[in-house]
Amino acid sequence: MKYLYDTQLFVEKNEDMVEYLCKKGLIQEGKVAVTMKTVNRAEFCDYPECAFYQAPQSIGWNATISAPYIHSLVLGVLSKNLKPGAKALDIGCGSGFLCPAMLSMMNFDGTVIGIEHIPELAEKAVKNISKSYEKELLSNKINILVRDGREGFAEEAPYDCIHVGAASEEIPHALIEQLKIGGTLVIPIGLEEEEQDLIVCVRTSKDKIFTQSLTKICYVPLTSKKHQLCRI
Ligand code: SAH
Repeated sequence: MKYLYDTQLFVEKNEDMVEYLCKKGLIQEGKVAVTMKTVNRAEFCDYPECAFYQAPQSIGWNATISAPYIHSLVLGVLSKNLKPGAKALDIGCGSGFLCPAMLSMMNFDGTVIGIEHIPELAEKAVKNISKSYEKELLSNKINILVRDGREGFAEEAPYDCIHVGAASEEIPHALIEQLKIGGTLVIPIGLEEEEQDLIVCVRTSKDKIFTQSLTKICYVPLTSKKHQLCRI
């Protein structure tokens, strides 16, 4: 894959990393730039000294925090759904980064539910988020739940947007069902260990979705706990 950015570029500050993404045209919206500056990526990385490389980073349990470019891309695509008062679901929330980031896009007025199936990673997400956003956890503006994300979270549906941070072979039907009309789902579709398509689905009516492929990416699979922990 040809990268639009230098994966080896080293910058020392979160703000400089965001400026770099703006300069490269990988962040095109002011609201996304503000959010990426507000939520400090270093607080979500196990190796903060390497936080600002344009690369994913291991968070343990065969999972990774996505590259900064991917986080900003997802926030840009979901931007019109991340309005004040919105409700968002982040499936496979991993490090937890996108939960406060989505809430920041809503001007901290709304709800984000992060779903993670590995209890230790859910704990890590809570720990990371509480470094700067403990108030949002205590007021339930951000909730982290340990569940199988393939089922979504019907109890709080419908959602303005759903982000899936792990690749699925097909779009889980439950997730479309849990979207509001006009809501957007972003999900990587494809096989494990292969390049996948980052798909954007807009639910245009009760029975219709509009689907578009944004880019090629390589995510960890949306799978069972057992399968994830057995991967080499
Ligand atoms: N957006 C996250 C990505 C984490 S990697 C970040 O940038 O930090 C993908 C995550 O999906 C992993 O944490 C993995 O444990 C989780 N995952 C995989 N299958 C899942 C499932 N069936 N249900 C819930 N979470 C799942």
